[in-house]
Amino acid sequence: MSIERTLSIIKPDAVAKNVVGKILSRFEENGLKIIALKLVQLSQQQAGEFYAVHKERPFYNDLVQYMTGGPVVVSVLEGADAVSLNRKLMGATDPKKADPGTIRADFADSISANAVHGSDSKENAEIEVKFFFPELSR
Ligand code: GDP
Repeated sequence: MSIERTLSIIKPDAVAKNVVGKILSRFEENGLKIIALKLVQLSQQQAGEFYAVHKERPFYNDLVQYMTGGPVVVSVLEGADAVSLNRKLMGATDPKKADPGTIRADFADSISANAVHGSDSKENAEIEVKFFFPELSR
């Protein structure tokens, strides 16, 4: 096990539903430490850049639109195997397929409004943390 950092975003649907505290609690209760946190309204340019890896996918424009539809809560989580632990806590991309008790099973509405983003690898976590919190770069 290694101590890692990962980037989490609580997406506009979950912020609008008033479940920010409940989602942050899931991280804390499972041993992840919140070492940076901010509420931001993403611009089209920021969301487009953040999701640039998905540029060729058919849902890219919808995703950028969706992520700019309201404020999001961005945090850096630190702990043992933080990247995979956070992915486990989040559940599958499609909430209908997410395991019971995961964040997406409990709080997400659909595959597009799916409550949370989490880095999918250590490499992407470093890039994503730097994108939102350049001051944390090591
Ligand atoms: P994640 O790592 O579990 O978030 O999933 P992906 O990296 O595959 O996709 C990134 C995000 O794009 C997802 O969290 C969804 O918000 C969105 N997304 C993925 N697949 C679809 C889809 O088929 N339709 C729509 N509208 N959005 C999608």
